[in-house]
Amino acid sequence: MNRRQALRGLLATATTMGWLGGCAAGRVQSPLPVWGDTFGRRLVYRDDPDYEAWRTGAAWQNYKHARYPDVIARPQSVDEVVTCVQLAIRDNLRVAVRSGGHNVSGAFLRDGGMLLDLGALRDVHIDAAARTAWVGPAIWSRNLAQRLGAAGFAFPYAHCATVPMGGYLLGGGVGVNGDSWGGIACANILAADVVLASGERVTVSADDHPDLYWAVRGGGTGFPGVVTAYRLRLHDAPTHVVASAYVFPVTAAGDAAGWLERVRASAPAKTELMMLMARGPAGPMAVVRFAAFAQSADEAKRLLTPYARAPEAAQALARMEFVPGSMERSFIESMDATRGLGFGSYAVETVWTDDLPASAAATVDLFGQAPSPGTHLLISPRINNRGPGDAAFSRIGRSFLGAYTVWKDPADDADNHAWLADMTQVMGRGAAGRYVNETDGFAARERVLTCYSDTAWERLGAVREKYDPWQRFHGFPGWDAA
Ligand SMILES: Cc1cc2nc3c(=O)[nH]c(=O)nc-3n(C[C@H](O)[C@H](O)[C@H](O)COP(=O)(O)OP(=O)(O)OC[C@H]3O[C@@H](n4cnc5c(N)ncnc54)[C@H](O)[C@@H]3O)c2cc1C
Repeated sequence: MNRRQALRGLLATATTMGWLGGCAAGRVQSPLPVWGDTFGRRLVYRDDPDYEAWRTGAAWQNYKHARYPDVIARPQSVDEVVTCVQLAIRDNLRVAVRSGGHNVSGAFLRDGGMLLDLGALRDVHIDAAARTAWVGPAIWSRNLAQRLGAAGFAFPYAHCATVPMGGYLLGGGVGVNGDSWGGIACANILAADVVLASGERVTVSADDHPDLYWAVRGGGTGFPGVVTAYRLRLHDAPTHVVASAYVFPVTAAGDAAGWLERVRASAPAKTELMMLMARGPAGPMAVVRFAAFAQSADEAKRLLTPYARAPEAAQALARMEFVPGSMERSFIESMDATRGLGFGSYAVETVWTDDLPASAAATVDLFGQAPSPGTHLLISPRINNRGPGDAAFSRIGRSFLGAYTVWKDPADDADNHAWLADMTQVMGRGAAGRYVNETDGFAARERVLTCYSDTAWERLGAVREKYDPWQRFHGFPGWDAA
């Protein structure tokens, strides 16, 4: 049977099982929220006129990687996910999983096989008494914040509103107010529902399938299964989110980072420390931001006052102090409404560093040469570097430094990618490791290796071999068997 026949067979089976009944009868299925509204079907293959729209629509950003699955499936329920995996088994298709398509290297787009698009799995079920929630993988950070916030809870969501929980948690999760809420977001995963390469559904936790539970907390793009829901530990929503920001010329980025380095150890966990390097109206700048996640105005004031009195604050070109906000406004676009929402093409690389001032200072010259004005660097000087305990997430330095190249015009693709390649080199000097959610293994496979300790890397290989000896699911970008 050739590939085309196999795909036709797959479609026929799906229709027979009633899965595509609506399509066969010409009815429109329940629409997907972002991209699927006009299609109303659940599966397209490569010669379908809609294929390219589905393929490019899977990527959250404008830049589309030139990788082409044979078939794209959009299951609407967990049962349909199982059906997809069974079809892939039957027709011997490899499977790549997508929750929100936010991964900038386009890890969810692979050549050949099936792209399993979980965009419809966005349910949230809160158990207020247990202070937990079951959360679908495709729900965006901002939407989850709204749902949990209404019930008085919060979670270390991604700083960018449109980052979904699926890939974010699987790779670790550097989240809002993370220092007080587990250190790294995946530390809050209590259990996960997983569809295995065998088609079996399991719930993994510390007691059940503990090796998969270990892998779901950091295994990232190498996880051998489909996560259809996470059970998360919730936290009390802060009633007062208040921030102070201090603007410096970008040439002082090293000193500004030195301020963060100086206060890191003494800053209470509920104060989030961040730095942004961006091009503002007056040129490139470094913005140091302290945000307090407090339960009263007095507490927020108390948390932020030491920074207002710091000698470094007196050196700032501009200061905006004690500005009231909210959990929602703590998402990254609160710093600049044009950033973080996917209005453009993105390329991203990140490192963990144990010498933040040196790492920040080293980027200044090249930052000034960024071809696009939207390009920015984000620094998260973690106060509390707790990992999630015994978990696949294993490589962490004291601080997180990410370069986000953002541009509009496809004619600028090559320039921006070239700039990021140079910045990757600069940031890599002296780095303690990389972050699997924001590194491009397709560009250089060694980058993925530096996301894990040697022990975790070996153990991940063993877990993959145990649960997916057929290599049904694609592996890490750059490490995939053909
Ligand atoms: C502008 C911007 C801001 C960001 N901000 C943050 C931030 O604040 N903190 C942070 O930690 N990260 C951040 N990220 C990175 C983000 O965590 C990753 O891009 C993450 O992969 C996105 O998750 P996703 O569900 O969209 O993954 P997708 O792009 O859908 O998938 C990527 C890969 O993850 C795996 N995967 C995804 N979902 C599943 C699933 N349900 N089951 C099995 N495997 C799955 C697959 O291997 C897939 O190939 C940011 C990225 C950008 C571009």
